[in-house]
Amino acid sequence: MGLLNLLFGLKSFTHGIHPPYNKDTADKPIRRLAFPAQLVLPLDQHIGKPAIPLVKKGQEVVRGEPIAKADGNFSVPLHAPATGRVRDIALLPTPKGPKSNGIVLDVYQGSTQEVLWGHPRDMSDLNQQEIIQAIQDSGMVGLGGAAFPSHMKLTIPKDKQVDTLIINGCECEPYLTCDHRIMLEYPKELIRGIRYAMRASGTRQAIIGIEDNKMDAAEVLRASLSNGSSIRVEVVETKYPQGSEKMLIKSLLDREVPTGGLPADVGVVVNNVGTLAFLGMLLPQGQGLIERVITVAGPGVLKPGNYMVPLGTPIRHILEQAGYEGSRTEFILGGPMMGPAVSAMDTPITKGTSGLLVLNEPSIEDESQRIWPCIRCARCVSACPMHLNPSMLGQLAAKRKYDEMALDYHLNDCFECGCCSYVCPSNIPLVQYFRIAKAINREQAA
Ligand code: SF4
Ligand code: SF4
Repeated sequence: MGLLNLLFGLKSFTHGIHPPYNKDTADKPIRRLAFPAQLVLPLDQHIGKPAIPLVKKGQEVVRGEPIAKADGNFSVPLHAPATGRVRDIALLPTPKGPKSNGIVLDVYQGSTQEVLWGHPRDMSDLNQQEIIQAIQDSGMVGLGGAAFPSHMKLTIPKDKQVDTLIINGCECEPYLTCDHRIMLEYPKELIRGIRYAMRASGTRQAIIGIEDNKMDAAEVLRASLSNGSSIRVEVVETKYPQGSEKMLIKSLLDREVPTGGLPADVGVVVNNVGTLAFLGMLLPQGQGLIERVITVAGPGVLKPGNYMVPLGTPIRHILEQAGYEGSRTEFILGGPMMGPAVSAMDTPITKGTSGLLVLNEPSIEDESQRIWPCIRCARCVSACPMHLNPSMLGQLAAKRKYDEMALDYHLNDCFECGCCSYVCPSNIPLVQYFRIAKAINREQAA
């Protein structure tokens, strides 16, 4: 922990980096865009089994209606983000890279943005299992990017004891400000969602962790909580990757999730602020997730901001409305540290997409981007929040000693935050090497 944090008492973790945050959109209120002509809705917008279509080609659907059902417990349903007609059920582009099965919906132009489907209910009547079922029925997944089904996350295994719900309001990735805006604009819905999540997980206390570059959000939320509430707000140091689960648990509670373990192993369950704010909105209405807030930003964007967009909106439509310029541009879905780069303009916004960044792609002739040999400066070692040795891992990756990386240098503890690549003066794409090594090890294990 740095000296300043010790002096000012800000909670944090060791290592990590301070990239330029570029959060100029933090003062842009959430706005809606016009519906696109067509929505592209992959059935696997979540981790787990893809949803099963409930609709046929040519069928009319209304905004909010379920169009695909969960395939068992480790899956979630999908709801129509707009009123229209099913054009096709086919292989579609996704942010994950390979195409996957999905539903193409022709949107009725001029159709209302009002949600036309739902079953309002009194949430106070529901028991723990019924709340978990309601969360699954809403199709909710982690909106911070992981897209892990929320009902699974909030179901605590019988052999674990969980005492604390942590709500992740750090938003430590540069450029992204959608969670910041959600905390400012939807505090009541967020607190309502936190109470549902506490009932679902059986936790007695909740801590909202917010970085100290969002003090206005911390104040708004504190003002929305009563004295003696079981929910409290804690401010943590602004540092990347403060918003990763393991780092935030360490910062707030000084507990360490063991290698290969889960937050529940140290008595914690973690949810993102956006996820719980949407649960607070949707559950009392008995509605499903059909839209989300994304940050549209980057030096190439003409009208940067935070936009509420229907799931399935192609990035082309967003860029047409927000405008962008530049001849060599790179599109990233999410933050610049961990978000995937995409090239197909019909790639849709899905449940796990928190941002659309338009960055200037580095030129291959640019000498400053050239990869040089490792100079053993150890900057990557000082940056790694998991206290790994990225330099050694990189050397082993170059020799294709993938087994040794995992067995002797804890490759599987790497959560691909990109800190090591970011600080490397030799421009060695360490995190890319580690992704490849993990994929090869997984394939061999399979
Ligand atoms: S990408 Fe992996 S090795 Fe590199 S800093 Fe992050 S956790 Fe450490
Ligand atoms: S930061 Fe780059 S150059 Fe320095 S030790 Fe790590 S891999 Fe080598």
